[in-house]
Amino acid sequence: MLLEICGSAGSYPAPGRACSSYLVREDTYQLLLDVGNGSMANLFAFTTPDLVDAVVITHEHTDHLADFVGLFHYRRYASHPQRKLVLCCTPGVVRNLSQLISDSALESLVEVVLLEDDLTLRLGPFNLWSRSMAHPVETYGLRIRGSDGAELSYSADTGPCEALEALSSGTDLLLCESTWISDNPHYPRDLHLSADLAGAYARLGGVGHLVLTHVAYPNSPAEALRAARAEAPMIRIDSASDRDVYVVGPRVEPKGILR
Ligand SMILES: [Zn+2]
Ligand SMILES: [Zn+2]
Repeated sequence: MLLEICGSAGSYPAPGRACSSYLVREDTYQLLLDVGNGSMANLFAFTTPDLVDAVVITHEHTDHLADFVGLFHYRRYASHPQRKLVLCCTPGVVRNLSQLISDSALESLVEVVLLEDDLTLRLGPFNLWSRSMAHPVETYGLRIRGSDGAELSYSADTGPCEALEALSSGTDLLLCESTWISDNPHYPRDLHLSADLAGAYARLGGVGHLVLTHVAYPNSPAEALRAARAEAPMIRIDSASDRDVYVVGPRVEPKGILR
């Protein structure tokens, strides 16, 4: 399984970085997680929008949704793929998109699958498990298993919660939001995570590799990396940059089990 970073900025674009978007692929199957503002420009570094098989949009916030509109228009006017695009998302995402794309166009080109808590789903070679996260709008984190058993977990946007533990436990790679650098009691608990907490979740869950993302400018990805490494010095930790590529491979050690 490959994880390709199309956008790594948190909440709004940053200098040289687009908002959240991640292409996950195995063989020819291409699954796009979130499509934040500016990310479509980076998507072209890896593929073209007509080759994307399915998109998961974890929640309705603009920094995870905005460039779906461009992707949709590319497929509608530039490439005309024969098959519908599978879009797994929340009702709030559908509502926001219907303000930007006509319902009939959306229905003719997109097959919508609504996410819910504790949903398991098969998309191409991938098994997905979604859990409801701690965020002000309906939001789902994901655990994705490839055909070789490799497992990727993605926090989406979330504050500290049990669901993140369950999703990430034992996974080969945790892609975790790190909006802030260090935890602070004044931060709302149902909004975002800090990099030190991301490190703590990775350590407690026995994650193989932690990749920090969604660092909100002017917070610095390098500072986030230092904070996470201080919490989990034995774990490989990287801070995502746009156009990075990570290989997600199964480890030899025993892992948690995807339900
Ligand atoms: Zn966000
Ligand atoms: Zn959000």
